[in-house]
Amino acid sequence: MTRRNLFLGMLAAGFSAICRSRAVTAATAAPIKSVDALQKNWQTLLADGVKVPLPTEPVKLSKEEWRKRLNPEQFHILREEGTEQPGSSPLNNEKRPGIFACAGCGLPLFTSEMKFESGTGWPSFFTTIPGAFGKTTDYKLILPRTEYHCIRCGGHHGHVFDDGPKPTGQRWCNNGVALRFIPKTTKAAT
Ligand SMILES: [Zn+2]
Repeated sequence: MTRRNLFLGMLAAGFSAICRSRAVTAATAAPIKSVDALQKNWQTLLADGVKVPLPTEPVKLSKEEWRKRLNPEQFHILREEGTEQPGSSPLNNEKRPGIFACAGCGLPLFTSEMKFESGTGWPSFFTTIPGAFGKTTDYKLILPRTEYHCIRCGGHHGHVFDDGPKPTGQRWCNNGVALRFIPKTTKAAT
């Protein structure tokens, strides 16, 4: 009898676990995608046939080699931690589906679904493609700020603040010069 009760108990527990997993599936299928889903499924925004590098393939070049590879503005932002004039980047108004990659090394950093209008004049994102960035603390404006850089090539991209929109509350404030946009469909690019 005890065994039978135990068996029934296990059956009930198993059933309730199935119900719970169904509820989770229903929640993730909601129209508003979770941050977790945006991060996991970032490759759905990558254009067909476009090959992108992995964060685990580091790029190490000398200053002179970077100077040859980048234009002067890109070099200043990416390699000398410069900041572009707010409102100067055409990517502020980029709303097509696609991927924002590092202008230095091509590593995918953000998707169009992670972008939001912050009103600051810099392309802004509330989350990133997982593992894309490393962080440091800088004191250039006296108060500490969190600087972030491409994990693959070390290129400086911007600063992350905690006054972003829900659900992350993060604002990744990125220099447009440091980004290269890859539209999902080449047709939309024309
Ligand atoms: Zn890079």
